[in-house]
Amino acid sequence: MAAPLALADAADPSFAELLALRPHLSLHAMDGLVMEEVPLAHIAREVGTPAWVYSAGALRRRARALKGALSAAGLTATVHFAMKCNDNLSVLKVLAAEGLGADVVSEGELRIARAAGIPASAIVFSGVGKTEDEIRHALAEDIFQINAESAEEIEMISAIAAGMGRTARVALRVNPDVDAKTHAKITTGKSENKFGVAISDAADIYARMASLPGIAPVGVATHIGSQITAGMAAYRAAYARLAELVRDLRVQGLPVERVDCGGGLGIPYRDEPAPTPEALAGAIRATLGDLGLPVMLEPGRWIAGPAGVLLASVVLQKRGAAHRFVVVDAAMNDLLRPAMYEAWHGIVPLSAARAASPLSPAEVVGPICETGDTFARGRLLPELVTGDTVAFLDAGAYGAVMSSTYNARPLAAEVLVDGARFAVVRERQSYEELLHGQRLPEWLTT
Ligand SMILES: *Cc1c(COP(=O)(O)O)cnc(C)c1O
Repeated sequence: MAAPLALADAADPSFAELLALRPHLSLHAMDGLVMEEVPLAHIAREVGTPAWVYSAGALRRRARALKGALSAAGLTATVHFAMKCNDNLSVLKVLAAEGLGADVVSEGELRIARAAGIPASAIVFSGVGKTEDEIRHALAEDIFQINAESAEEIEMISAIAAGMGRTARVALRVNPDVDAKTHAKITTGKSENKFGVAISDAADIYARMASLPGIAPVGVATHIGSQITAGMAAYRAAYARLAELVRDLRVQGLPVERVDCGGGLGIPYRDEPAPTPEALAGAIRATLGDLGLPVMLEPGRWIAGPAGVLLASVVLQKRGAAHRFVVVDAAMNDLLRPAMYEAWHGIVPLSAARAASPLSPAEVVGPICETGDTFARGRLLPELVTGDTVAFLDAGAYGAVMSSTYNARPLAAEVLVDGARFAVVRERQSYEELLHGQRLPEWLTT
């Protein structure tokens, strides 16, 4: 039984290999797995599990690496953190202090960004279905830019802005019809996807924007997908099409002030080849550099993903007919990515002694009543006993934000580590809060 599983797992990176690529994490004989200077076992004891833990140092380092790569390529660029991947107030505060703005996709995100101290002048609003109320709120806040995704939305924005006596700064999101070669659920730049306007219609729609009373066209935007690891070819193709469009618009005498290059830069969850910020900056420079325009970037995952872990405790180890099951107290309601995208996350025991013990294949599962509540299959792990704790790596993006209370499981706590300090930055939801807002109709109470 062990042989085929072992073969399938032969390519998985070891604990040491995983940690070597994540400099905010290290394994110590006494303290076990440490984030920056804080033993994660200490946080698990104090805060309980499951718990999300973010490294402020990693967030800062990654924000600086990205900005550094853009300026080293000679680009004038602003970076707007795609906060749909992590909308924790403290995470945003750390990134705001690094000079990052926000890319928001709802009024809720816009309000959280403002609460974190991100100035309206650094906020861009994307999304295929902004409501009238959301557009009105964005205009009242006077945000930097709204990315319009359709001809219909442009009429809507203009009417609302004109009614408010305002002019909306609008960029047109273009669908460049390129295949980013990522998971189907997170590909956004193919013609069949719901995002943006077809590149062949873009010039006409842009001209229409310029003729409307409530709109000041400021540029063009694209975002071709998420977790892009297949190199720079798709980015280059998309940006080359944008550059061609900008030249067309200029020939028509239409104003173009900037180009929004979107996000999507992938990270190595397992051992995927990782495109670097330098490669992305180079692709932007090579395709858009000649236009002499400032560019915007909307990265989410690349900045926050590797900066976070999800801590979970082992409830029990169960010997099934075919497998060893490690049942943990985190589940698909916490970390949805394995169930939703078949995603692979590194799983590292917090104890150095456990990490050094002999490995054998295990199914790592949560307690939810669905077979999809499986984090890993045939994963090489040591024998684990009740109360042992593990860290799911790269859980800082599309982690806590995608969690739910499915199976009436309270939302997990969130913790920020900064050097030798740590603090709970979002309390674990209480059982009372699970019932909050529910009320019985009068006819059921008698
Ligand atoms: C999701 C999204 C992003 C961020 O994507 P990442 O893969 O997390 O970098 C950027 N821009 C838009 C419009 C998005 O929808």
